[in-house]
Amino acid sequence: MFRKTVFHKTVFTAAALTAIVAAAMIVSAQAPPEGGKGKGDGKGKGGGDAKGKGAPQGQMITQIKPGFYEVTGAGGNTSVRVTKDGLIVVDTKNLGEANYNDLMAQIKTVSNLPVKYVVITHVHQDHSGNTKSFEDAGAKVIANEGEKAELATYTSAAGKPAEPNLTYGKKTTIKLGGVKAEVYHFSRAHTGGDSVVYFPDLKIVAGGDAIVNGAPNIDFPNGGSAVEWPKLIASTLKLDFDTLIPGHGNVMTKADVQAYKTKWDTLVSRAAEQVKKGTPKDKLLASIKTDDIGWNVTGPQWTPPARLDPFYAELSKVK
Ligand SMILES: [Zn+2]
Repeated sequence: MFRKTVFHKTVFTAAALTAIVAAAMIVSAQAPPEGGKGKGDGKGKGGGDAKGKGAPQGQMITQIKPGFYEVTGAGGNTSVRVTKDGLIVVDTKNLGEANYNDLMAQIKTVSNLPVKYVVITHVHQDHSGNTKSFEDAGAKVIANEGEKAELATYTSAAGKPAEPNLTYGKKTTIKLGGVKAEVYHFSRAHTGGDSVVYFPDLKIVAGGDAIVNGAPNIDFPNGGSAVEWPKLIASTLKLDFDTLIPGHGNVMTKADVQAYKTKWDTLVSRAAEQVKKGTPKDKLLASIKTDDIGWNVTGPQWTPPARLDPFYAELSKVK
């Protein structure tokens, strides 16, 4: 298929390769589907993804299509677009010098060109963590203006990510080496500053944590929204793509993204229906049927007041 692991400069024996692949599989199996539940536990800001302090965690670069790579491990998935004039990178791994160095080592196995642009899909440190290292290395780091605003109060156990050095409102386009990357803020979703990055020539989208495998994590304290989330997916589906790099987990097809949207529509309409018929807030989560969509909405990401209260409030406004 289109996933081809790239090993440059080193010849691995079959046994070594097997060990490496096995190790990588263990790393990915241990990675939480949402980049860590961490904070956002009802104590206000700091939501989302608080993993990633200390020792570097296994990273692996994989070719998705010629000129496009994904780096898994050590936080959210990172995308790398190689152009003749340099690289465009989406997301920067867990905060920490070792994670940044490992990421750059992975990238250098496929290109020695400099990273010219970095897009941060959202505020959580498993995506935004190494903003400063890229800026110090000379890259322009771009994020939605919502991401920058959320950083003012965002904290994580791993530390505080740096601000992007460029922000945008609804859309911005990166042009480099004859290649375009369109960066969209379609709506609030996982946070209030989510970016979706579209590479039209390759028909690839990097979705950040707004489009993931598995149950969503709505970071209300950092501007997230359940009601707006399906709008982001609908707008993404209007793009002409066949491959999507989610914030975490395996590469998705457009059909996978369509199925994800259907689950979201189902969840929001059922939840809104419960609110409309007067289900009290403390009974809401248990009242939403989700067994057929496979999402557990009763876990710690849903129950604290900082998550449940705004969820109930925005559902109350659904017509
Ligand atoms: Zn996140």
